[in-house]
Amino acid sequence: MKFKINEIFTSLQGEGTRAGRMCCFIRLTGCPLRCVYCDTEYAFYEGQMKELDEISGEVIKQIGTPGSQINAPFVELTGGEPLAHPHTRDLLSHFLGLNYEVAIETAGSHDLSLVPSQVIKIVDRKTPGSGEVNQWLETNLMYLVPGQDELKFVLVNESDYDWSKQWCLERKILDHHTVLFSPAWGSLNPQWLAEKIITDRLPVRYQTQLHKVIWGADRTGV
Ligand code: SF4
Repeated sequence: MKFKINEIFTSLQGEGTRAGRMCCFIRLTGCPLRCVYCDTEYAFYEGQMKELDEISGEVIKQIGTPGSQINAPFVELTGGEPLAHPHTRDLLSHFLGLNYEVAIETAGSHDLSLVPSQVIKIVDRKTPGSGEVNQWLETNLMYLVPGQDELKFVLVNESDYDWSKQWCLERKILDHHTVLFSPAWGSLNPQWLAEKIITDRLPVRYQTQLHKVIWGADRTGV
């Protein structure tokens, strides 16, 4: 079974509740969306076909076999949009079978019922400012595991904040799930967002893209 892979690299997780942890990223090629802030356009088409064993061999070479420590390196599928590939479930199951902690970063536009429940799902809810707000499967909410999975909003402007807050409140999402609010890099003022969350006493997690703080916005493979 082959997958088109853009890159496999080890870095620190830059986003979400696992930010700062070592992670081996497997970036699959291709994405049907075109978000205005996309920073991985190089993954839309470029990549090489690799066999499953070749991919896991590369991961083991980079981070070793699974560790038992609480902050041991984990494996994350990203893109592009990893669920745009028809056999991503097999790739996820393969790494679960090797006993790695496994995560997937996805736009929420593809069916999450296909993802094994033990996989940590970091799901983007695209906002109006992203240009892809309609790329969302509402049924995906049924497959989010409370306390394990995360729903992420990248906010492009101030009205994205209002829209996202309303969307969460209407569905009572904040009572059950970890919700991340992040300012789109170079678009929304980070301080404005932090203060707005505090003023509103909104129980979300503020996050920034740690890897861009460390290495700058244009560096790839980190
Ligand atoms: S879903 Fe992700 S990879 Fe696809 S266009 Fe949007 S930001 Fe880029």
